[in-house]
Amino acid sequence: MNVVLLGAPGAGKGTQASRIQEKYKLLHISTGDIFRANIKGGTEIGKLAKSYIDAGKLVPDEVTCDIVKDRLTWDDANCGYMLDGFPRNVFQAEELDKFAKVDLCLNIAVDEKLLMDRICGRRVCACGESYHVSTLNGATVCKKCGGELYQRADDNPETVKSRLETYNTQTAPLIDYYGAQGKLKTVNCGNDSPDEVFAKICEILDK
Ligand code: AMP
Repeated sequence: MNVVLLGAPGAGKGTQASRIQEKYKLLHISTGDIFRANIKGGTEIGKLAKSYIDAGKLVPDEVTCDIVKDRLTWDDANCGYMLDGFPRNVFQAEELDKFAKVDLCLNIAVDEKLLMDRICGRRVCACGESYHVSTLNGATVCKKCGGELYQRADDNPETVKSRLETYNTQTAPLIDYYGAQGKLKTVNCGNDSPDEVFAKICEILDK
C-alpha cells in the first residue's frame, strides 16, 4: 500500500509516520528530511533548497519531483511507502500520479490555532522523533535514542507564518484532489494526543 500523508506543518505527520512505519512496515519518505540531509551534507540540492526552506517557501517542483521519483526506485520502496510532505501542491500530485500509484491519502486535520505553538515549541532529534518543550521537563536528549534535541531552523514564528500560508494556498487544494479520486480519509484530531490520533489512523489502515 502506498500512502500520502497530508496535513499542515505541525499537524503531527512526522510523529504519526514513525508510528505507522513501525506498525505497518511502510517505508517513511519525508521530502523535508531529504532536504535537511542535503543541507547538512552541503550538496548542490541542499544549497538550492536552503533559501526556499528558510523563507517558508516550496522548493521548486522539478527538483522535488525528481528526488521523489528517484527515491521510489530504490528496492526498499517495493513493499509500500508513506510520503510525508509530498506532494505539496496539485502539480506535484499530478506528477506523482505519472510515476507511482497512490492508494490512500491520510489527511491529518488540526485546528490552525494550535499549529503556531506546536511548531515553535517543537524540538526534534536526528532519529526522527519530535517533542514539545512543554512535555520535556527540561530534558535535552531524545527519549528513544539519547540523541541531542534541537530546534529546526525553520521552526520560528516568521517562517512558520509563511509555511502556513503556503500550506493554505498550495497544499490544502490536495484535499479536493484526492477527494475527487475517492482516496481521501480525514482524521480529525481536535486536541487529541498523538496516541489518540494514531488509534484513529489504525482504524483506517486496518480496514
Ligand atoms: P517539512 O519537513 O515537510 O515541514 O518541510 C520543510 C520544508 O522543506 C518546507 O517548508 C519546504 O520548504 C521544503 N519542502 C518539503 N517538501 C517539499 C515539497 N514536496 N515541495 C517543495 N518543498 C518542500
